[in-house]
Amino acid sequence: MSGVPYTDPLPLGPDTTQYRRLTTDGVATVPAAGRQMLAVDPEALRTLTETAMRDMAHLLRPSHLAQLRAVVDDGEASPNDRFVALDLLRNANIAAGGVLPMCQDTGTAIVMGQRGNRVLTDGDDHRHITAGVHAAYARLNLRYSQMAPLTMWEEVNTGTNLPAQIDIELAHGDRARYDLLFMAKGGGSANKSFLYQESKAVLTEARLTAFLEEKLRALGTAACPPYHLALVIGGTSAEYALKTAKLASARHLDALPDSGSPLGRGFRDRAMEARVWELARRIGYGAQFGGKYFCHDVRVVRLPRHGGSLPIALAVSCSADRQVKAAITPEGVFLERLETDPARHLPPVPDDRLSGEVVRIDLDRPMDRIRRDLSAVPVGSRVSLTGTMVVARDIAHARIRERLERGEPLPDYLRDHPVYYAGPAKTPEGRPSGSFGPTTAGRMDGYVAEFQRAGGSLVMLAKGNRSRGVAEACRAHGGFYLGTIGGPAARLAEECIREVAVLDHCDLGMEAVWRIRVEDFPAFVVINDRGEDFFAPIASPPLQISSRPQA
Ligand code: SF4
Repeated sequence: MSGVPYTDPLPLGPDTTQYRRLTTDGVATVPAAGRQMLAVDPEALRTLTETAMRDMAHLLRPSHLAQLRAVVDDGEASPNDRFVALDLLRNANIAAGGVLPMCQDTGTAIVMGQRGNRVLTDGDDHRHITAGVHAAYARLNLRYSQMAPLTMWEEVNTGTNLPAQIDIELAHGDRARYDLLFMAKGGGSANKSFLYQESKAVLTEARLTAFLEEKLRALGTAACPPYHLALVIGGTSAEYALKTAKLASARHLDALPDSGSPLGRGFRDRAMEARVWELARRIGYGAQFGGKYFCHDVRVVRLPRHGGSLPIALAVSCSADRQVKAAITPEGVFLERLETDPARHLPPVPDDRLSGEVVRIDLDRPMDRIRRDLSAVPVGSRVSLTGTMVVARDIAHARIRERLERGEPLPDYLRDHPVYYAGPAKTPEGRPSGSFGPTTAGRMDGYVAEFQRAGGSLVMLAKGNRSRGVAEACRAHGGFYLGTIGGPAARLAEECIREVAVLDHCDLGMEAVWRIRVEDFPAFVVINDRGEDFFAPIASPPLQISSRPQA
């Protein structure tokens, strides 16, 4: 067998992760078949998983926090870039307290393992990992987001956030070590994974750059930038390209070599990374509301491919950059060290040096008055909202549409108050609100014209860019779409949301209609009653790009 031309397609290199040891319990070295084996107890897998899910919900990597701080310190960043980055840093600080998770969408639990050939378990690894996920979501103030299909059309929330996605494969080489990568992937972030089935025709620098520019413009801001962006060019299958993109977005493949090999080794193309980073910078989305920080960083991985196929995969890790590595070795159970003191990344300067002008809007007035005030503010401006809003998202919108289709009127609350598209995480005891950030506005686009025609949804609040149809509806009916910062859900709960009460459709859990009172709730005017859309000019002609190093 030694003469077989084998190459590891994704050589990870030495593991330089900073780990902390959780325990030495549940691991032992035992002899078998003349070799030393690593025996791992079910409880070690369960405890490791529960701790990983808890850490990810509340803590970020030090490198991610340092990148946010770099945005705040960058004199070339836009005021909106700096405002968003500062908000995300403050959010990290609140979430690190361990009560409010950093984002209201606490994600789908994804666990990828590489189990060494000399690791012994009882064979039920998936079950023990699932038990750890279950314990974390049951005990912490997280959100249950998983919907189980009963029929093609009927779904129920599983009430546990299970199932988790668990993929365990055999590690390369002779190893008494179990490596795991835990992720908690939010829906908005997961929705920004894309696969394009291309061909050799796109494999020139100019064509690939033009192709990527189009895809970056289409990516938009709904997954809460700044992104860790990953692109994979090639792959022995479509699913392998997508999986590699997911790993690269978690910076799991950072130690890949810089060049390929005749046997088909995957590699990072750092020149292309710099080119795409520059492209992302110049496109102008910025950190959600214009600027240069659409991406913190870019990874481009080149893989071998079938001569007749060219899969290109794109994935992002969002502002809830939730991934943590773990290793079980004969020395114990280890988990990647995340930052427990994010305050050390906060800048020491007052806010007004870091943000632009802000217009205060009182929401406790007739809707016409609110709209008149918003109409006087140019798109792209920052506003601060105080007063009452209603919260409704996907299922509530579908039910309200059914009412209209039955000839019933729109509920008054949708006419009298701005509507915030969101769904909270669990409310911690003694607090008015659980983590409560915005969801992706685009999913509600199909309702806007109909609801506005019926006199409702005239001021909408959520995250991300919207379709042309929404801008046209706002122009026709005098509506507004305000974008609020996606990501800092713990800060919104702690500092901006004063009261939360279920208003309608209480059977829907986190998808119910809520009435909330907010104070100094930050937002930006994205679409106004003249149909002007802050993001529309970003769909402009191709740019002339020059390579330069990433920040
Ligand atoms: S930061 Fe944004 S994209 Fe990421 S999980 Fe939270 S809401 Fe979703």
